[in-house]
Amino acid sequence: MPVSEFDIIEQVFRAKATAGNNVVCGIGDDAAIVEVPTGQQLVISTDTLVSGVHFFPDADPFDIGYRSLAVNLSDMAAMAAGPAWMTLALTLPDNNIDWLHRYADGLFSLANRHNVALVGGNIAQGPLSITITIMGTVPTGQAVLRSTAQAGDLIYVTGQLGMAALALAISSGELAWTGPIPQPCLDRFIRPEPRVQAGLAIRGLASACIDISDGLAADLGHLLQASGRGARIQLSAIPVYESLQLLDRQQIWKYALCRGDDYELCFTVPPHHRQALEQRISQAGCPLTHIGIVTLDPQPGWIDTDGNHVELTGTGYRHF
Ligand code: ADP
Ligand code: MG
Repeated sequence: MPVSEFDIIEQVFRAKATAGNNVVCGIGDDAAIVEVPTGQQLVISTDTLVSGVHFFPDADPFDIGYRSLAVNLSDMAAMAAGPAWMTLALTLPDNNIDWLHRYADGLFSLANRHNVALVGGNIAQGPLSITITIMGTVPTGQAVLRSTAQAGDLIYVTGQLGMAALALAISSGELAWTGPIPQPCLDRFIRPEPRVQAGLAIRGLASACIDISDGLAADLGHLLQASGRGARIQLSAIPVYESLQLLDRQQIWKYALCRGDDYELCFTVPPHHRQALEQRISQAGCPLTHIGIVTLDPQPGWIDTDGNHVELTGTGYRHF
């Protein structure tokens, strides 16, 4: 029996959605209603994933479901917001119910872990594309913006860079590689782990933050530009996954700094908050590396081990 749009919403999404906090009216009415707790601000972000651009068309729908939320959670983390609700707009080529069930299982595997309630959405027919709007909350005035880094602040990144880029470069044949793709890199590419806990941990301590979706060089560049500042970054301090270190320097920096899909956080911290911040991030179980310092001179400076400035070419992923 063919499944209708109504069946999809009821059987796939409403059936799997769990009741979230502060949802006054969820799936089923013309719009959702949620209660923003007193003293909190609403933080909103949208990301679209297009088949063939952001994921391979034949990818496991579970992984597509996971990823479609992961990229949105990463944006919440970058604002130091706690994720709470989402809407899901699906454009589907057909009504393949098995695909949809698997998609939803991937989506909810991550949604349930972070207590994000699906409160509504839309379904249309067309080339496969997925848009999630995520909403979260932050105590009033405590969101961490891109534009508020100060000269002298310390620059940190979470995790290790270049893992997903390495997996993609090997699997696409761009990079000659003997042996299998390192499993941790493949895992990172397929199911990035958004740094939600680390994002909450930097509240009140970090001066500015951005998530690294298009490569550290590009994204740190956005943060510095928004803040009207520059930086000195020690290339030797950049946390690079061990398999990447087998490559030559140009390639290491290409994958670790100029490619996408890391979904780590890059943030700045006034020196007097250094200890408190390192302690909180370590309590959140997140690897953390100090890579440089914000400068007044508004030029990002990448410094090699000899103290020379390095010009990074290829500034991250761009759609246009
Ligand atoms: P309307 O025609 O009023 O826009 P729809 O018929 O499109 O409403 O949707 C009915 C209900 O189902 C709405 O509450 C909507 O938010 C929800 N919904 C639609 N698509 C999805 C989806 N993919 N996931 C979750 N809820 C959805
Ligand atoms: Mg309506």
